[in-house]
Amino acid sequence: MDKLQRGVKGVSIAIIALFMFIYGRLAWLQLVEQESLGSKSGSVRRIWMQAPRGNFFDRNGQLILENRALYTVKVIPSEMHESSVNLLAYLLEMPVDELKQSIDEARNFSPFAASTVYRDLDEVSMARISENLWQLPGVTIEVENKRKYNNLFTGTHLFGYLRGVTTGQLDTLAERGYGRDDKIGSTGLERIYEDRLRGEKGARFELVNPLGVLKGEYDKGKHDIASVKGDDMYLTVDAGLQSLAEKLLRQTGKSGAVVAIDPATGGILAICSEPDFDLDILNGSTRKQEWADIALSPRKPLFNRAIQAAYPPGSTYKLLLSIAALEEGAITPEQTIYCPGYFEFGGRKFKCHGGAHGTVNMTKAITVSCNVYFYKLMLQVGLEKWHDYGEMFGFGDREGIDLPGEKRGVLPSTAYYDRRLGAGRWTKGYLVSLGIGQGELNTTPLQLANFAATIANNGTWHQPHLVSGYRDTRSGTYVPLNYEERKLSVSQRSFDVVKAGMQGVVLQGTGTLARVAGVTVAGKTGTAQNPHGQDHAWFICFAPIENPKIAIAVLVENAGFGGSVSAPIARELINYYVNGKSRGENGYSDTKAVSTIKAVSDSLSSERPAKSHATVVDSSRVTTEEDPGD
Ligand SMILES: [Zn+2]
Repeated sequence: MDKLQRGVKGVSIAIIALFMFIYGRLAWLQLVEQESLGSKSGSVRRIWMQAPRGNFFDRNGQLILENRALYTVKVIPSEMHESSVNLLAYLLEMPVDELKQSIDEARNFSPFAASTVYRDLDEVSMARISENLWQLPGVTIEVENKRKYNNLFTGTHLFGYLRGVTTGQLDTLAERGYGRDDKIGSTGLERIYEDRLRGEKGARFELVNPLGVLKGEYDKGKHDIASVKGDDMYLTVDAGLQSLAEKLLRQTGKSGAVVAIDPATGGILAICSEPDFDLDILNGSTRKQEWADIALSPRKPLFNRAIQAAYPPGSTYKLLLSIAALEEGAITPEQTIYCPGYFEFGGRKFKCHGGAHGTVNMTKAITVSCNVYFYKLMLQVGLEKWHDYGEMFGFGDREGIDLPGEKRGVLPSTAYYDRRLGAGRWTKGYLVSLGIGQGELNTTPLQLANFAATIANNGTWHQPHLVSGYRDTRSGTYVPLNYEERKLSVSQRSFDVVKAGMQGVVLQGTGTLARVAGVTVAGKTGTAQNPHGQDHAWFICFAPIENPKIAIAVLVENAGFGGSVSAPIARELINYYVNGKSRGENGYSDTKAVSTIKAVSDSLSSERPAKSHATVVDSSRVTTEEDPGD
């Protein structure tokens, strides 16, 4: 009891002491602020100091996003002399009117605060201004930070970019400690993890004479407050794989997306969307013309297709229908359907591609992607059950990835058609299209990648994510992040049948271009019918079948058949990641990564795969015969 009381007393004293400290600090800061306000008679001024943002590391401990110095020119309008505006404009090589306007805006915000008028000074200009600071009262040069992007990959939609806080945003952001000159994560991970990445601002106190000219630090800098760097983020991404995915997708010359997932954890191994753009255009100061070109481009580089493009999944969705049919007992794996090359329903004739498939069971139907089989199967399963299984696997809803702007896609239900067309005013004809993944059904590349991952691991749905944890700068500890997972109630037998079909696709079906020497690959091609032009090509897969390390979805827009354009991209990614081939050719260094890992933390045990670099298999022997079509 005594012990407890002592403990309580101790805590109380600590709390009181803490409050006294905070009050004392506040009072002092206010005093300084007052002094600064009365700067006409010479005083102390406070300059806020930006904190460096947190760094990013990939799953192997490789540094993939850091900071570099950014020199900015700030002015304190109340201390500036009219005459020095011309000199400053001259030194900055900018029009006097433009500078005057910036200073006016700064004055409107606060005459006594230091506001940025020029960002991203080059070294020469910085030297020139530094030499002339003595005749520029109220002008300071600050060393801040801007992002330093890696030279391995672009990461446009992955990292995202920062934007300056606008006057409009300040109303709500000021209470969270943002100032007029601050930047804030606008897209990507920079936005989602803004609160961890931004760190805490510091402050410096300076003595200035009555003319506003700097006279040195105040009280030997004793009262300065050091900034606290933002937390470092640890990504599930493999830098080498990300680099390769971007390169392969870019080489198609088309728009599209690639998502690769670790089926064991839901960690994203690579994610990219084409077209993308150079994040440096928005780094430090915005390169206006280049930014305008991006924002107005008809190819929509700002659109993150990996999580925002929603198209019919085409034949990849036959796998979902297969699982629903098996689970609901609508068919057995051995039961066959006869394909004469077409299917007649409601007075219409739906064609199977590639002529008649004859007698097919489920495995064969998946392998050759027989439409007739799945038209008939869909009518047997029915919309309700088909919808329920889609929902179970996460279609029609966000996956919950840690990126902003994810789309839900569309998973039609009875209620959906009743709403759109009126109850009783639509026929089963709609089901025929859904049976082969066309029609109103829409999925994103992320959803299909995670679908492949869930099949790969036999029914454990993981919330896909990019950040496995962060290092708390203050405490120095690594904090793992937790993500949702759930076991789906689907029997192993169903997965086995579907996997056998998917293996057939790659061995002798529509996806032979995804064959990788020495690795068992399960895949499925898909073609999204596009009423506005050429069809979009899908390919989903995972490998190795017996111990899946990677699940992938590839989407290439307007590329026609999925097997010819999308499957080879998946093949290269599997070969890289599973076979360890071409490691080093993408600027990736194992030795460097290993040393960084040691330096980083021992607590980062979760997401790191034990990869073998020993097996290097020549993939040039892989055959590339003609595809029978999808
Ligand atoms: Zn057929």
